[in-house]
Amino acid sequence: MNLPNQFRLLLSLLLALAPVQAEEPANPTCPIMTEDEADVEAKVSYQGHDIFFCCSPCVKQFKKEPDYYVALFQIMKSVPAVQAVKVPGDIHLLEQRFCPFSDKRLVGPASPSVEYKGVKVYFSKPGHLKTWEADPDKYAKEAYAKGLLPQLKGKI
Ligand SMILES: [Zn+2]
Repeated sequence: MNLPNQFRLLLSLLLALAPVQAEEPANPTCPIMTEDEADVEAKVSYQGHDIFFCCSPCVKQFKKEPDYYVALFQIMKSVPAVQAVKVPGDIHLLEQRFCPFSDKRLVGPASPSVEYKGVKVYFSKPGHLKTWEADPDKYAKEAYAKGLLPQLKGKI
């Protein structure tokens, strides 16, 4: 074969990249930021099973309480790889699943939280907690209306 040099170069480049492109996350959507695409690089192994996230903050959030999130992923059926694993301990899932300000992002017991009308409200990041504190009644009402704060049932 007599190929022009540039073409050969391009071909070898494509061949070198091919294995990387072929690898795709087993769960295509991030289970923490539930509308974002998972990234093959943002991977965590749980009991030998790979879970893929969209970014390092999500990985960090998961690593703070992996058992809690796997139990939640199982309820939400969002990560087939861990759907059947046995989560150790007795996990009590929060009524609240999503941040009142990032309504597609999960929260857990270790997320920033505040006491409001006798119950805890959780946020995906400290900045959102700060926003909340500027006008809790307004934000509570809005988030409750969207179904994001079920723990406030009968309280507002
Ligand atoms: Zn993320």
